[in-house]
Amino acid sequence: MKTSGSRKSTDRQAAASGMGWRSMITALGVDRWVRRLCGGRGAILMLHGLKESETADWQGNPGLTITGRQLTAIVETLRSEGYELVSLDVALERLAAPRAGPRFACLTFDDGYRDNYQLLYPLLRQLAAPATIYVTTGFIDGEAPAWWHGIEAVLQHHPTLDMSLADRHYSFSAATTTERDAAFQQACDLLRKAAPAARAKALSQLEQIYQIDFRSIDRERMMTWDMIREMAASGLVEFGAHTVTHPALRDLPQAEARLEMTQSRQRLETQLERAIRHFAYPYGDAPAVDQAVTTLARDCGFASAVLAYGGPLRAGAGVHALPRIPFGGSDTAEDLRIRLSGARAALAPAYE
Ligand SMILES: [Zn+2]
Repeated sequence: MKTSGSRKSTDRQAAASGMGWRSMITALGVDRWVRRLCGGRGAILMLHGLKESETADWQGNPGLTITGRQLTAIVETLRSEGYELVSLDVALERLAAPRAGPRFACLTFDDGYRDNYQLLYPLLRQLAAPATIYVTTGFIDGEAPAWWHGIEAVLQHHPTLDMSLADRHYSFSAATTTERDAAFQQACDLLRKAAPAARAKALSQLEQIYQIDFRSIDRERMMTWDMIREMAASGLVEFGAHTVTHPALRDLPQAEARLEMTQSRQRLETQLERAIRHFAYPYGDAPAVDQAVTTLARDCGFASAVLAYGGPLRAGAGVHALPRIPFGGSDTAEDLRIRLSGARAALAPAYE
């Protein structure tokens, strides 16, 4: 999961002028010229969930979902731009090869959303596109809440969000969409940064006050082990680890961070009866991942570990801090083409 942000003002200005700057750049083919210089050997895309269609319902973080139509556009864009869709293992081989081969791309999906089985899996089969899903095992086992769903549920039904956290009380107005967006962002930021015990206490109080069972939301929104096993058996979808409870690993004592990595891998290996080789850092940003964390992923024996930001993959990239290109919300094929180009100024993700 990533927390949401807002689009850059240049986007709004360009939209007001009729043609978005992204569309202009791609119509002129500027992204292709830049990509020849800065596009690296390939790219790993970071996605989360799928939704049936565009919805008018308020979402706490719209960047966490795309439609099937958007996914199809991603795959078609990648293929028309000469990218071969490959597994992470093939990507690692091509990254380490002495000479660059054809460009490649990996599709990755974080957290383990149920729509990955219901909507994504049939579409991947239809498109013959491989993908990797990074699973937070505690979400599947009902041992840890994907608590942002609970915050979203409260805000969907109440005009204010009252929350006590670490002996402080917060009251967020959520009467308008703008206020609701801000309340979601602020509450999630506070909860993410809180100590695990303080966060658990705050969440438990929210469940009582608002009469919402966060785990029942997860049971509806996250996959089951049966779904995961079926997808893994297909050979089209590979599974990676994404910790047990989805913490910011940099905030944890090293021994706990190690357990988050190894126990999530063990749980997946037991359920799938196969080796789990790849890992994604929860949140995946600089406040959550430093060099000590990436060294730990290497020491735990993962073949690769991915961040939640960055651009294309360059030869010699550290395999335990691989960049990814985020895609979500209202992002378009033009956004993707510009991010694939590797142009630094254009790479700032829409959701960070
Ligand atoms: Zn995540």
